[in-house]
Amino acid sequence: MQECLNHGAVHYILKPLREDVVHTLFLNVTRLGTHQRRLNGNQGPLSCATVDSVTSNENEGKMWKAFQRRLQSVFEVNHNLIHQSISEYFHPDIKISLSGLKSISSETNTQLRTQISSWGFAPFDYNYYELVQCAFTVLRHVLTLPGLENISISVSDDELYYFLFDVANMYQSLNPYHNFQHAVDVMQATYYFLCQIGVLPPMQPDASPTLSSGKLPHGQYSWLQNNAVMKDLISPFDILALILASIGHDVGHPGVNNMFMIKTATPLALMYNDRSVLESFHAMVFFNILQRHCFRQLTEWRTTAQYTRFRRIVMQSILATDMGLHDDYVNKIQVQAERLKAYSLDIRNQEQAEEEVLLICGSLIKCADISNCARPFPVAKKWAEILQHEFHEQGDLEKELGLTVLPMNERGKVSLEDFQLGFKKNVAGKLFEAVADVLPGKCVEPSTR
Ligand code: AMP
Ligand code: ZN
Repeated sequence: MQECLNHGAVHYILKPLREDVVHTLFLNVTRLGTHQRRLNGNQGPLSCATVDSVTSNENEGKMWKAFQRRLQSVFEVNHNLIHQSISEYFHPDIKISLSGLKSISSETNTQLRTQISSWGFAPFDYNYYELVQCAFTVLRHVLTLPGLENISISVSDDELYYFLFDVANMYQSLNPYHNFQHAVDVMQATYYFLCQIGVLPPMQPDASPTLSSGKLPHGQYSWLQNNAVMKDLISPFDILALILASIGHDVGHPGVNNMFMIKTATPLALMYNDRSVLESFHAMVFFNILQRHCFRQLTEWRTTAQYTRFRRIVMQSILATDMGLHDDYVNKIQVQAERLKAYSLDIRNQEQAEEEVLLICGSLIKCADISNCARPFPVAKKWAEILQHEFHEQGDLEKELGLTVLPMNERGKVSLEDFQLGFKKNVAGKLFEAVADVLPGKCVEPSTR
C-alpha cells in the first residue's frame, strides 16, 4: 500500500480526477513501468539508441541492422551505462504538481516577471513553484521568437511544466549552492544578457536600458555595430538551445567539485576519464531529459534538420562551464574580439559562423554561471555565503577522508571578503572584460568598462 502511495496513488485519494491529476498519474505509471522493467533486466523506453527500438523499425536498412547485431554488446553497454548513471540520480517522486502551480496568484506572476527583467533578480526565498514559474516564463517568451512558431505550437503549457518539473527534480535540493535556485539564476542571467546584446526582445519593454550617449573612441567596436552582427549570427533557434542549456547546466550536481570526484575515484570520474567530469555528466543527463520531453523533436537526429547544431550548442555550452578550462576559454574570447574588431569575420561562411556562435554561447553561459558576484551587493553577498557554505561542506568531507583540504574549503581559513576579492580579480574580471570586448553592453560607456 505504501509503495502504491509512493508511486502516486495519493493523487487518487486526495484529489478529484482532474486532467492534470490524470497526467501526473500517467507519468508515475510510465516511470514505474520503466523502473520495473529495469529491475527485471529489460531495456527501458528512455534510451536514445537501444537495439530493440532501432531494429524493430521497419524502415531500417540491412546494413544498419547488421551493424547493430555485430556491435550488440557495445550498444547494450552504452545504453545501460546511461540508464544506470541517470537512475542513480533520478527520483520519480513528484515534489511539485500542476495543481499546486495554479495557486500562484496573478499578482505574484507579475512580480516574478518584473524580477526576471531586473539585474537585482534574487531567487533565494522563492519556492519550487515560483522557480519553475520563472523558468516557464522565460522559455515561453523565447518561444515567441520568429522562426520558433512550430516548436511553440507543438509544446503545450502543461508539457513545458512537466519538462521543468523533471529538470527541477534532477537538482539536489540539499546542496547549499548547486541546486535549482542556481539553475534559475543562471537562466535569468543568460536571458538578461541576450536582451542586453539585442538578440532577444525583453519581455517588459521598459526593462531595456537606454543606449549610452557617450561618443566611442576611434576604432572602438560599438554596440550598434555589434547588435547588427549578433542579430545575423545568433538565430532564435540558437537562443532556445542556449536558454535550455542554462537551466540544465548543473543537473545532478553532487555538491562537490571535479577535483573531489577525481581524487576519490568516483565512477563518474572513471567514466569520463577525469575530463570535465561533472560537466560531461550534466550535459549527458540534460540531453536525456530533453529527449524524454516536449523538446524531443529537437533531439531526433533522423527528423530534425538542425539536430547537430542544437546538440552542439547545448552540449558545448554546458561543457564550457568547466572552470578548469577557464583561462583557455578567456584566451579564445580575446582572439575572437580581435577578429571582430578587424572585421575578419565572414558570417556567410556557415562553418565559421557556427564556430563563432558556439564560442559566444559558451561566453554567455560562463558569464551567467559566475554572474552572482556581479549582482547588486546584497544579492552577491548572499550567493557568496551560500557557495562558501558548500565549499566548507566539501572541506569537512575531505578532512574526514584524510585528503588535502584547500584553504578555500577549510572553515575559518579564508574570509568571505578575500574569497570574493580573489575570485573577482583573478577569475571573473578577466572573463567579463574579454566578453565585453566581443559583446559590448548598451548602457556602459566604453571608457569605463
Ligand atoms: P558551476 O559549478 O557550473 O556553477 O561553475 C561555476 C563555478 O565557479 C562554481 O562551482 C564555483 O567554483 C565558481 N564560482 C561561481 N561563483 C563564485 C563566486 N561568487 N565566488 C567564488 N567562486 C565562484
Ligand atoms: Zn553552475
